Amino acid sequence: MKVTVFSTKPYDRLFLDRAAARGVELLYSESRLSLDTAALAEGSEAVCAFVNDELSRPVMERLAQLGVRLVALRSAGFNNVDLEAAAEIGIAVARVPAYSPHAVAEHTMAIILSLNRKIHRAYNRVREGNFALDGLLGFDLNGKTMGIVGTGKIGAVLAKIAAGFGCRLLGHDIRPNPECEALGMRYVEREELFRQSDILSLNCPLTPETRHMISADTLPLLKPGVMLINTSRGAVIDAHAAIAGLKDGTIGSLGLDVYEEEADLFFEDLSNEVLRDDVFARLLTFPNVLITGHQAFFTREALDAIAETTIGNIVSFRDSGKLLHAVTVDYLAAKT
Ligand code: NAD
Repeated sequence: MKVTVFSTKPYDRLFLDRAAARGVELLYSESRLSLDTAALAEGSEAVCAFVNDELSRPVMERLAQLGVRLVALRSAGFNNVDLEAAAEIGIAVARVPAYSPHAVAEHTMAIILSLNRKIHRAYNRVREGNFALDGLLGFDLNGKTMGIVGTGKIGAVLAKIAAGFGCRLLGHDIRPNPECEALGMRYVEREELFRQSDILSLNCPLTPETRHMISADTLPLLKPGVMLINTSRGAVIDAHAAIAGLKDGTIGSLGLDVYEEEADLFFEDLSNEVLRDDVFARLLTFPNVLITGHQAFFTREALDAIAETTIGNIVSFRDSGKLLHAVTVDYLAAKT
């Protein structure tokens, strides 16, 4: 079975090649999947896609014309897929529901710790012979309230880590997680979580309900000076509102691994190019903002698991027509 793999980097090849010796022929492309690049899938029965590949209705119609019957996502999130269109067109969609919640939760804590203790600034200062501590003041995590929106696989691991630091845990989810309750997490309405959280971490999927959860309207609900962390999907935060919140101090510090318009930036070396995104450029000017380029998932264990599950999804579809980890249009409805 031939599979065109979009948005591939050398590290993807390394792990997918290791997992793929099961009669699956992987045709690698560095291109991001879009209407302009869909033709690269000609001759393949499946495409393998990542977080910033476009799987809109027009793209899937084009893929179907080329004979593609399966989209195998190398991600857990599937907000970039028009599931209704996939169902109507007759393209099956599979994903990797869990590869390493530890990878993302640990990176989330790394951002929290770095941002709080200004490790990113201290690193540069010390290298320049500046040992002054002004501007590096942090706070104890012990005793602070960590609010987590979305207490699924990643949120639950983060809760466990935060409990280890002595944080008080608040959660908000459409489906409370008994694992988190066992850690002492108290589930509250979103507004209350916003009001009480010293550290607010967003770990829910991007859905119509969670898009721009942090916006000009909800900014006034946040505890003044909150540390806001987003390692879920960029559009859960309206970046314009975040900038306003940073300017007036509503947001005390901001840690991001994702950004609404990241598709044109992340995963590429653009260091020799002019940055054209003025909103992103403004975010980079704040001393209390720390951004990583969608790297929370990026551990050996996670890449191994992503490759294994992705090839498993493809082989199962080829051999039995069944998907091990299907994503269907009723997925979100079933979760509510
Ligand atoms: P999960 O499905 O296990 O958990 C998501 C949780 O969010 C569930 O408990 C669900 O009930 C809850 N939820 C859904 N809608 C909600 C709403 N409106 N309000 C509050 N809670 C809501 O998923 P997961 O594996 O924990 O991943 C969470 C998200 O993290 C993914 O959807 C993905 O967008 C993101 N992610 C990011 C990276 C990265 O590298 N930065 C890697 C993997 C996943």
